[in-house]
Amino acid sequence: MEFQFKNKTVVVTGASSGMGYAIAQSFVKEGATVIAVARRAERLEELKESLKDASGVLVPVTADLAVDENNSLMVETAVKEGGRIDVLINNAGMMDEFMPIGEVDDALWDKVFKINLDSPRHAMKAAVNHMLSDGKGGVIINIASIGGLEGCRAGAAYTASKHALVGLTKNTAYMYAHDNIRCLAICPGGVKTEVGKYASHPSEKGIQRVMSGLDANIRQADVQEIADLVLFMASEKADFVNGTAITVDGGVSAN
Ligand code: NDP
Repeated sequence: MEFQFKNKTVVVTGASSGMGYAIAQSFVKEGATVIAVARRAERLEELKESLKDASGVLVPVTADLAVDENNSLMVETAVKEGGRIDVLINNAGMMDEFMPIGEVDDALWDKVFKINLDSPRHAMKAAVNHMLSDGKGGVIINIASIGGLEGCRAGAAYTASKHALVGLTKNTAYMYAHDNIRCLAICPGGVKTEVGKYASHPSEKGIQRVMSGLDANIRQADVQEIADLVLFMASEKADFVNGTAITVDGGVSAN
């Protein structure tokens, strides 16, 4: 299937690995100008190098999105590079240490909320106001998680942050439904990425509880399966899909 992203400007956060890398790559291959944001500059350069023959353009932006103002700055970069922002993909995120509420401390809670919820919040505010200002609208896609719909997938901080992101997604879709701005969430189950590698002191109880529910998993998704869905949902072919949280887990959570 071909998508029309030529002359479109897209921001993809967390583009240095996993799903974000594949999403940014796919948009550039479809002709978009992509502002690819993450902290690891060398990974973004590697991504740019992989796309030198593609029809679109990759603009690497090295930034820590836990710093609030970097989120509006990346949106400004998109407007400077492409004249406007057409699509915002809030993908950057982190897991927690599977800590249930009895174990989680403020530092971990705040760190997880900063990147999983505050970063999308600040980016969405900046993007929505640009989309409203020229009346052309746009699309916002938040990579939430099956942990944003269920209580059995992660620790308290990750689960609460992704539930909040799903709520923010729905509210934004409803508020701007007459302004040609669509906002939706993608909720993957397990995907083959680097997301688990940062757990340094996981909760024994948390791990045991989460793992005991994973027997029904069919397999992990490949990052390209998520990227393909994101491109479809960001395209005009999905014009009437708005305010929903789309599960991508092969049917496991349909029980
Ligand atoms: P990865 O760890 O592979 O990618 C996470 C990305 O987020 C990296 O590019 C990382 O870049 C970026 N990132 C993290 N913190 C920051 C920060 N402070 N500032 C800027 N960028 C940051 O994981 P995934 O691809 O799996 O994760 C992508 C999204 O998907 C996340 O929101 C995750 O919660 C969600 N998800 C993942 C699932 C899975 O099973 N993998 C399942 C469901 C949802 P860098 O380190 O260079 O800054």
